[in-house]
Amino acid sequence: MRVTENLLKIKDSLPENVTLVAVSKFHPSKDIEQAYQAGQRIFGESRPQEMLQKYQSLPKDIEWHFIGHLQTNKIKMIVPFVSLIHSVDSLRLAQAISEAAIKEGRVVDVLLEVHVAKEQTKQGFTPEQVDEVVAQSLSSEYNGINIVGVMGMATFTDDMNQVESEFKKLAAIYHKHNFRVLSMGMSDDYPLAISCGSNMVRVGSSIFGNRN
Ligand SMILES: *Cc1c(COP(=O)(O)O)cnc(C)c1O
Repeated sequence: MRVTENLLKIKDSLPENVTLVAVSKFHPSKDIEQAYQAGQRIFGESRPQEMLQKYQSLPKDIEWHFIGHLQTNKIKMIVPFVSLIHSVDSLRLAQAISEAAIKEGRVVDVLLEVHVAKEQTKQGFTPEQVDEVVAQSLSSEYNGINIVGVMGMATFTDDMNQVESEFKKLAAIYHKHNFRVLSMGMSDDYPLAISCGSNMVRVGSSIFGNRN
């Protein structure tokens, strides 16, 4: 009940061009089923094993988005079915995903994760590195991936001016490269992200409640 209500409320509030990724990490499949019944088809997960298990047990028209840090030894687990990887944070990872995708006979859509926040702990390329990565990705080693956009997370702070300036940095990169996807905005900041141009928001706790 609660999941359905939360989901529908958020969905109704989003502009038509904004895609909602329902972040279901750490929540049981029965919660995903509720959101599915309410019409949601795109779910985000941050652990390969968990995403694989959910993929195997849930309806096959679900689109699975991987949003967590991806270790190269876990790529094979998700490459056969993942629809978008939001979190490519190194060239080595991009190359490894490409190699696995080619073996699988697929081209996998990916986003480059860009570090715009103040915290050192967050992953990603610097804004300056994105040009270089895009240029490199034209080489045949990267034929198994399609870079369709950028993803970022703002600093965890109440200072909304800070958050806004970080979202604007990401939006500028998105526009510069004419990308299709600008993935930014989570439960606490997605309305601001949308006002800064986001067209894909990743919302977890506002739909499913707090994670353990
Ligand atoms: C967990 C997570 C989210 C969802 O966060 P909420 O605050 O629960 O909405 C979004 N993006 C990424 C990359 C995450 O890891």
